[in-house]
Amino acid sequence: MLRVTEIFHSIQGESTHAGRPCAFVRLTGCPMRCVWCDSEYTFTGGERMSVEDVLERVRAYGCRLVEVTGGEPLAQAGAFDLIARLCEEGYEVLIETGGYVSTEGVDERAKIILDVKCPASGEAERNHWPNLGRLRADKDEVKFVVADRADWDYTLEVIRRYGLTTTARAVLVSPVWGETDLRELAEWIKECGLDVRMQLQMHKHIWGAEARGV
Ligand code: SF4
Repeated sequence: MLRVTEIFHSIQGESTHAGRPCAFVRLTGCPMRCVWCDSEYTFTGGERMSVEDVLERVRAYGCRLVEVTGGEPLAQAGAFDLIARLCEEGYEVLIETGGYVSTEGVDERAKIILDVKCPASGEAERNHWPNLGRLRADKDEVKFVVADRADWDYTLEVIRRYGLTTTARAVLVSPVWGETDLRELAEWIKECGLDVRMQLQMHKHIWGAEARGV
């Protein structure tokens, strides 16, 4: 069984898949507490559903791209079964994970979008570094949410230490919504000389930062 906060059909708002129609399965619960978290509503509650019930809801959208997200989706043991079943049914599956739980055991057909938590999140001490060694350059993406200059310096250090511009399909850099100075972040990215990608959470620009189920 799984605990599920919401299942919905929308536009993918982040990663190199941004702009594509996507079905989302948002699982309940997260062991992290990032200070700027925009999905605290996933920490508690949720509906208990079987993997089959979730698959039935996803099938009804007729959308071939599916993201399993949270909260922290990999914190639920049943998520691994759900991901494998989605892959078996031929869906293109994205996993958005916060980087605290090991990605080992995730069906290899799924594509991982792995967060690395920066200092301003308050959770940088909990990054599970072996996850970076499992990234696949043809599939997986790594994401840094940058609040300030100290976060950006940390981002550069981690990118260089792990060679992420070659070991991942993309290195994504997101601002903290409503906090990071976007022009400043753009300048840092222009100057860094690395092949990284700034992204702006497209769904929030379309539906607003507080909207749920989009
Ligand atoms: S890992 Fe994601 S869901 Fe969990 S607290 Fe951090 S931002 Fe929120």
